[in-house]
Order: sequence, then structure tokens, then C-alpha cells
Amino acid sequence: MRYADVIVDISLEKVDKTYQYAIPERLLDTAVAGAKVEVPFGGGNRKIEGYIMDISDTPAFDPAKTKEILSVIQGAVSLERRFITLAYWMKEHFGGTMNEALKTVLPVKQEVRNLKKRTITLTAEEEKLKEYYGMAVKRKYTARIRLLSILKEKPELDYTEAVQKFQISASTIESVCRDGIASVREETVYRNPAKGIVSVKKPLLNEEQTKAVETVWGDYAAGKRGAYLLFGVTGSGKTEVYLELIERVIREGKQAIMLIPEISLTFQTVRRFYERFGERVSVLHSRLSAGERYDQYVRAREGSIDVMIGPRSALFTPFERLGLILMDEEQEGAYKSEGTPRYHARETAEYLAELTGASLILGSATPSLEAYTKAKSGRYQLLTLRKRAKEAVMPQVDIVDMRQELSEGNRSMFSRKLKNQMQERLAKGEQIMLFLNRRGYAGAVSCRACGEGIKCPHCDISLTFHKGGKLLCHYCGYETTQPKLCPACGSRYIGLFGTGTQKVEEAVLREFPGAAVLRMDADTTKKKGGHEKIVEAFTKEEAQILIGTQMIVKGHDFPKVTLVGIIAADLSLYAGDYRASERTFCLLAQAAGRAGRDKLPGNVVIQTYQPEHYSIRTAAAGDYEAFYSQEMAYRRLLRYPPVTNMLAILVQAADEAVAGQAAGRLANTLREAKRPDEEIGTITGPVPAGLAKAKDLYRYVIYVRSPAYERLMEFHRIAGAEKQLTEAAMKCNIQFDFNPLGGYE
Ligand code: ADP
Ligand code: ZN
Ligand code: ZN
Repeated sequence: MRYADVIVDISLEKVDKTYQYAIPERLLDTAVAGAKVEVPFGGGNRKIEGYIMDISDTPAFDPAKTKEILSVIQGAVSLERRFITLAYWMKEHFGGTMNEALKTVLPVKQEVRNLKKRTITLTAEEEKLKEYYGMAVKRKYTARIRLLSILKEKPELDYTEAVQKFQISASTIESVCRDGIASVREETVYRNPAKGIVSVKKPLLNEEQTKAVETVWGDYAAGKRGAYLLFGVTGSGKTEVYLELIERVIREGKQAIMLIPEISLTFQTVRRFYERFGERVSVLHSRLSAGERYDQYVRAREGSIDVMIGPRSALFTPFERLGLILMDEEQEGAYKSEGTPRYHARETAEYLAELTGASLILGSATPSLEAYTKAKSGRYQLLTLRKRAKEAVMPQVDIVDMRQELSEGNRSMFSRKLKNQMQERLAKGEQIMLFLNRRGYAGAVSCRACGEGIKCPHCDISLTFHKGGKLLCHYCGYETTQPKLCPACGSRYIGLFGTGTQKVEEAVLREFPGAAVLRMDADTTKKKGGHEKIVEAFTKEEAQILIGTQMIVKGHDFPKVTLVGIIAADLSLYAGDYRASERTFCLLAQAAGRAGRDKLPGNVVIQTYQPEHYSIRTAAAGDYEAFYSQEMAYRRLLRYPPVTNMLAILVQAADEAVAGQAAGRLANTLREAKRPDEEIGTITGPVPAGLAKAKDLYRYVIYVRSPAYERLMEFHRIAGAEKQLTEAAMKCNIQFDFNPLGGYE
């Protein structure tokens, strides 16, 4: 007898283990590891689906009592062994159940019928055709007459065309075929959204690019697989390095996964890959249909493509011969999943690369502190591109102190400097991008006169405004009331502040009546293709000014843009989480990188209420090293990642008291598990989450810190063991997040 260990399709901790089933004789061939099966489950033998993890010859308990697998599910996509291994690793490192992890690594679950290209071919000899035609005329078979006359002209007719254009029914076609006049031929066609032209016009790589390529390739050719951080300013030619490496890997008969954050997955970016690799490239993105997604999957598995481009889920492309994983803009928050398991694609890619013997290249103009720290420690090999690839020089960056503008009577959204420069570009017919750094300001209180945000004295994180004028720290729970006057300068210009892209547009039109303006934000890009349309219109210079949020700074190359204005650079600094400065630096550096991409020199104006803040100063100076060392000092002092590892435990309940109590209980359990040699601050909280109430649920967070990731995994197991009981007893929901990217805002 053979036995199968099955993970059932229920995402509950209680059943988060394998169950053994006997494999009946008739299923011996199909019930293999990775197969999706139907099994009887529980006392009532409810039919339930699951995946086979492993097969063995030894029963785990009394064979007489072992239940049998009912069936292997037809049409289900099966799991490959290495994805089972990967799923297990993800579950251990990021939480959640094995079932949830399996679902994550198998982005395509079900076969979707392939599109068939069908062709009707005339088979009858002339004589026979004539005879048949006569018969059809006599009997007034008008549809057959129509089909026959078309076939006489065109002996190979597309089936869909016959049906749709010539209005010939399927049954007519069938009759004609049955009578031996024609036949229908079927071929499977895969839906490849990446149909493109191949025109290789590779630039000659410059010295820095060549060095980067040769370093990776030297290792690769010597059989050494490594992890590399390609640190290059925007426009330094990182993409050309990726293209070259992918080409070499393909030449070796291997395949590559190219991760690009969804927001940068624009046609402009992807086209370069089509042009280089043509039909051998495939793209995954959220707008693909299930059928298109399935086709990509099959094509990858069959080896009919060599490169998969896509957001983080592209990591789970079932390539047999994976040689290279590339991750552009590795610092992007979108690489962290918001579902369970809350995996980060960077760490997952690192593990997958090891598992499959692939090399890993992370690319960024502003590396995450995580990646740069690893590069410094030698875990990643650092490759640097210092110069822009084309002649373009880096733009001139000016910081404007908005406090001074206010004190000198300018209350408008635009500083005098930005306004003057806009005037000048409009007159010269050049293009302008206005960037509004909008993320994360909600709820932060700051002073427009002196720029001070009100911060927690313990955590150095902006306090967040709550109902009733309360200001709260979301890491330690410190609470104070909102002052009427700025504690730093006494000004009354203190409060919540923020502005939207629409307001910027109105202000632009007030200042520059008649200017052609485009706005790119969540509203204007909601419709399918909305994003591309705006990019295209701006590229064609249908507008001189493009206003937008984060979206406009990613992945676009507009040669005519010579001025980038950043309206309120510090908004993201007030976000109530420890990554506020990092995000600000990154956004500013990227926004600045948009100016003067071509021959025309560029200017960047950064408007801020905190001109002395290090993230703004270092971004303006393009000095990543300086930013890194200051930011690391801050993280070290207050024990935030990557200096330590952090596990956030989020407890949500409809009743606020219950959420607090459940979280409190969990925190106590964890505190009991803390070893005496571990710091007091190992477990903090519970505290109300940044967004203390979301979707009618009250949210509390507990933070667990440890330099050792394994230790956090232990704490996770301890809390995990209580999760289901607590959830059931107290009607709450508990979630785990390893190294959260932000606070729970
Ligand atoms: P990044 O990915 O670092 O932003 P890209 O690879 O997009 O940089 O390069 C920026 C621009 O410079 C692109 O238009 C690209 O075609 C061009 N470019 C890159 N490398 C070279 C090179 N060696 N010679 C000429 N042009 C290059
Ligand atoms: Zn002030
Ligand atoms: Zn605090």
C-alpha cells in the first residue's frame, strides 16, 4: 500500500499539518506529490480538496483506519516539488498556514481551456465540389452555398472568420465536413500578451556597465552563483545590464525572472525586453485574464519562453532551468505581500535562488537599508554605476524653505522660485513635472511656520491625530493632547495639513491660465489603460505640465522634461512609522532623477518645511552614503530593522476592549517566553495601531524585536499556538507580519 501526506484546503492553524491517506490502486499513477486531490475529512467525512506533499510506503497509524483518497482532481494545476519546499520556507519565515503558502506559490490553480485556432480547408476535388454545389442550390441550402463560394476563392478559411464575418453556423460547417467537402484543422495558440517585434539595437556598454556584467558573468561562468546589488543612479543604464545578463543566461540554455514593481510595469519599460527577446518574453500583470495567466504558466513550464517579467508573483514562474532572478527597484514597498503569508519578494528570491542554483541581481538607485547593509557585510556583492549612461548630467537641485515663503507673505502652494522657473519653461516650450508627495501624511500634525512635526519623545516617530484632539504614538502608546500653538515656535499655523493633486491642478491653472495640464493619480488612472494614455499624451507633448503622485516618478523617460517641482517634500516624513525618512529620501531622489534625462539640462525644486532634515538634504545632494549612515544611526539607536528584526502582531476585533484584552493576553504569553538575557524592550505593546480602527475593527499591535530572525520565528510559534484559541474565544483576528514595512497606518 502507498500513502500520501495531504495538506487540506482549510486555512486554520488547527489543521495546519499533513494528514495521511491511503492511495487506492486506481489512483497510483496520478496521486503523486504535488497533485491536487479530493479526500474525506473529519468525523463526517466531508469531501474536501488538498495537495499531496509526500508519498510513503509506511502507514503513520493503523492502516485499517486510514481513509482513502477519493480522486485526483482533473484539470487542477499540480505543484512542483521545489515550490512545496519554497512554500514551507515562506510559511516558517513569514507566518500563515501551509495551505495559504501553497496557494501563494501556485498563482494558477486551474486549467483554463486553451484557445484553438481552427482552419477550414477545402478537401474535395473540383468535380465533386461542382456536384455538391449543384445539390445545395437545388435544395436552397443558402449557408452552404455561401461557404462553398468562399472556399472556392479561399481554400483555407479561418473558422472564427467564417462564423463571425460570414455568418455561417457551426452546424453548416460540420455538415460540409461530414459530406467530405472540407475539413477543420485545430492548433493550440497560446495567448501571449507580449507579441512584439525584435529589433536588436544594443548600445555598446560603457565601462561601469561592462564591469558589472563581467563580474556577475565571471562568477556565473565559473559555476559560482551569487547575490549582487546593482546600485546605479536613475538613467545609469541598469536595465541595459539586466538585458545583457539575461541574454547571456539564455545563451547558456537557462531562463530568467525579471521582477519589476507593478507600478513601473509600463509599456515603455517592457518594450525594451520585447525588442530584445521577442516571443521568448512573457509578461505577467494584474490585468491579465485567467486564461492568459494560465497560458503564461504553461508556456513557462514547457520551456517555450525564457524570460518572465512581472511583479512579485512572477517569482513563482515554473521554469525548469532558472538561471537568473533580477529584481529592479528592490527598495519598493510593493515587493512585500499584503496577504498571508506576508512575504517579502527579496528574501524569498534569495531563498529561491539558492534552491534552484540561480544568481540574484537586485537593482536600485536608492537601495533599501536592508540590501545596502547586506552589501556592506559582503552578503551581496556591490556593483556600482555612478554616471548617467547618456550624455545627460545630473540636474541642478534647489531646496526652498517654505517657512520663509510664509513669513514673507507667500501663502500660495508655489514658492517664488518654482513659479519663476515654471514660467520660464512654459515660455520655452519645455515640459514640467509637479510631484506631490502625498503618501502617509494623513493624521500627522505639523507646523507650517517652523516645519516641526510633533513627535513621540520615546520613539522619535510622528504622533498621529485621533478623535478628540488626542495625539498618539503607534509604537509605544505615548499619548498627549494636540497643542493650540506650535511647541517649537509658538505659531498658530499648526494642524493637519495636506493637499491633493486636484488642488495642485487648480492652483496651476490659476497661476498659469491656459497651460495644458495632465493629472495622473488614482482617479485619472482608474480606467483600463488610463495610465498609458496619460503617459502617451505627455510624451507627444499634448501637455506641458504633468501633475501627479508617486505614479509619475516611476519608470518613465520624458526627454523634454527640464523641470521637476516637488510641492511638499516633507509630507511623507510625518508618516507615523520608522520608514518615513527612507521613503522620503527615495521618492525625492527618484523625482529628481526625472529631470534632464536627455540633452536638455534639468532643474529640480524641492519645497519643504524642513529644509534641514537629513533625508531632504541628502536626497537633494544625491548623497546616498550620507543618508544611509544617518538613517542607520537612527535605526540603531531605536532598534528598528534592519538593525534588528521585528515581528508585528496585529489583533483586530469589533469591540475595542476585546481587541485590547486579546492583545494584552498574547503580549503576556510572549513576555513569559522572553529569556532573562533578552532586553526588556523585546516585547512592546499592545498599542493601538496607526489606523486604530479600520473597516469597523479596532486594531492593536504588539511588536517583538530580536536581532536573530530564528528567535522571532520561535516567538511566532508561541503566539501562533494561541492564535486560534484566542480568536475563537474572543472573536478577534490575529495576524503576523515579519519585518513590517510601515507602521499599521
Ligand atoms: P536605468 O535602468 O538605470 O534607469 P536605463 O538602462 O534605462 O537606466 O538607461 C537610461 C537610458 O540610457 C536609456 O535610454 C538607455 O537606452 C540609455 N543607455 C543605457 N546604456 C547605454 C549605453 N551604454 N550607451 C548608450 N545609451 C545607453
Ligand atoms: Zn512651529
Ligand atoms: Zn513612542
